[in-house]
Amino acid sequence: MSLRRLWSSPKTLDDVNMVTEELKNLYYKRLMPIEKYYSFQHFHSPSYEDADFENKPMVLVMGQYSTGKTTFIKYLIEQDFPGSRIGPEPTTDCFTAIMYGETEGIIPGNALTVDPRMPFRNLNPFGNSFLNRFKCAQLPNQILESISIIDTPGILTSAKRKLSRGYDFPAVLRWFAERVDRIILLFDAHKLEFSDELTRAFGALRGHEDKLRVVLNKADRVESQQLMRVYGALMWSLGKVFKTPEILRVYIGSFWSEPRRTCDHYQLIEMEEEDLLTDIRNLPRNAAIRRLNDLVKRARLVRAHAHIIGYLKQEMPTIFCKESKKHNLIYQLPVIFSKIQQQHRVPAGDFPDCTKMQERLLGQDFSKFKALKPSLMASLDKLLSTDIAKLMPLLQQQEQKREKKKSLPGVLDGDFLGTFKRGHYKRDPFKQIPEEEEEEGSDIYLDEWVVEKHKPKYDEIFHSLCPVAGKLTGTKVREWMMTTLLPNSVLAHIWRLSDVDCDGMLDNEEFALALHFIEGKLEGYWLPHELPPHLVPPSKRPQHTDE
Ligand code: MG
Ligand code: CA
Repeated sequence: MSLRRLWSSPKTLDDVNMVTEELKNLYYKRLMPIEKYYSFQHFHSPSYEDADFENKPMVLVMGQYSTGKTTFIKYLIEQDFPGSRIGPEPTTDCFTAIMYGETEGIIPGNALTVDPRMPFRNLNPFGNSFLNRFKCAQLPNQILESISIIDTPGILTSAKRKLSRGYDFPAVLRWFAERVDRIILLFDAHKLEFSDELTRAFGALRGHEDKLRVVLNKADRVESQQLMRVYGALMWSLGKVFKTPEILRVYIGSFWSEPRRTCDHYQLIEMEEEDLLTDIRNLPRNAAIRRLNDLVKRARLVRAHAHIIGYLKQEMPTIFCKESKKHNLIYQLPVIFSKIQQQHRVPAGDFPDCTKMQERLLGQDFSKFKALKPSLMASLDKLLSTDIAKLMPLLQQQEQKREKKKSLPGVLDGDFLGTFKRGHYKRDPFKQIPEEEEEEGSDIYLDEWVVEKHKPKYDEIFHSLCPVAGKLTGTKVREWMMTTLLPNSVLAHIWRLSDVDCDGMLDNEEFALALHFIEGKLEGYWLPHELPPHLVPPSKRPQHTDE
C-alpha cells in the first residue's frame, strides 16, 4: 500500500463549494500580498495554503492528564482508533490527528508535513522534536468522513515534575486553535485543578474563545452538591483567564468507556451531552462560516500589524543610533499601540499581544521594515468592508440548498437517535464483506451464533415488552434501552448494529443481538464498527444451496 493511497480521501461536493473557492481567491489576491510585504509570517502565523481552506472541519480536544480526552474522541467516533493509549501518566504525549482513510494506518509527523493535501505543511517550523510527537491515525470511520479530530498531549498538572517538551507547546496549540472549527476543553469534575501549563495553554486560545466549548467531565462521579461547587469554581477560574467569559459554554458530561453511575443529575448529563454532540454534528454545516470568520480575524490582525510595522519604519533614523532607537521603540510599544488605535481607528481588539510582539521585535532588523503602503491598505479595507460582505448571499444560498437536501425522503425512521449523517449508513451488513471473501466460501457464516447461548434469557425480556407480530418498535426498544444508563450515542450505535434488516423494528434475534452488545458494553468492551458476519442472526444469513 503506497502512502499516496493512504492519503487519498473521497472528495465530496461540499469540498469544492463556491464559498470556499471565493474565500481562497480573496485570500490569495488581497490578503497574502500584504502578509508577505510586512513579513506577517515572522510575527504571527504562516500563510494559508489550499489545504487550509479545503479541509474537513477539525475539532481540537485538549485538557489536563486523564480528563478523558482520548475517551471522549472514542465516544465521538464510536470506536477505538490506532495508536490510542489511555493512561494517567504521560503515555499519550503526542498530537494525533484522527482522520478518515480507506484503510487503517498511522502516518508519522514528518511525512504529514510534506503532503500538500494535508493541512499540516506549516507545522514544519516547529521542528523535529515536535514532529516526532505528531502523527495521523487514519481509519475508515463514517463520522470521520465529515470531521477530523486532533487529540493533544495531556497538559501537566502543577503537582507533576516539570518535563521539558522540547518544543513550544503553547505555540503549537495556538497554531491548531487558529485552524480548527471547535476546541473542546475537558476538565475532571472529580479533580479540578489549574496548573501553570494550563494557564499558558489558555493564552494560546486567546482570540478563539468563540470556538471553545468547555466540558466538565466525569460528572457522574460526584454528588450534585459537589458538582455545583466545582461548576462555580470552574466558571470563576475561567473568568479570570478569558476576557469574555460570558460567551463560554460549559457542558456537564460523563464521557466514559465504563457505564456511568446513577446520580441525581443523570438526566442533566444526558441533555448536556446531546447538546454538545449536536453542536459538533453541526460543524460541517457551519464550516464555511467559520472559515469566513477566521479570514476576517486574520485580515484585522494583518491590518494592525501593517500599521505597527509602518509606524516603526517611520520612526527609525536613517543613519545614526539605530540600535538604541530600536530598543526605545520596543519599550514604548504599548504607547505606540494606542497612538495607532486613535490615529487610524483600529480597534484595540485587533492588536496582537504586546509582550509577545516586543519579544519578536527584538530579533528583527528594523531597517528592513516597509513603510505603510496606501494602495495595499486600501485593498485590505475593501476586503473587510465590501468583498467579504458580498459572500454572505452565497453562504445563504448554500444553506438553502442544504435545507432542501435534508428534506428529501430517504431518512430512516429506525435511526431514532440521530447520527452525523442521517440515512448514510451502509445498512446492509452483507455488503461489508469484500467480494473475494464471499467467493472463497460461506464458512464465515458457519460459525455458531455466539448470541444463542444466552438467547433464552434475552427472549424473556423480549416477550415481557409485548412484541406485536413478533417485533418490537423502535420506541419501545428505546425506552427499555435507556434504563441501561448507557449514553445515547452508544445506544444509537447498538441499534444500528442490531436492526439487521433495517425495518425500524427488532425481532427476537435482533433484540438478542442488541442485548448481547449492551452486556458487552457494560463489561467494558468496545463495539464493532460494523456487524461482523459471525454475529449476523442465522435467519438473516444468506441462503446457500449445496452443489
Ligand atoms: Mg489521551
Ligand atoms: Ca429489524
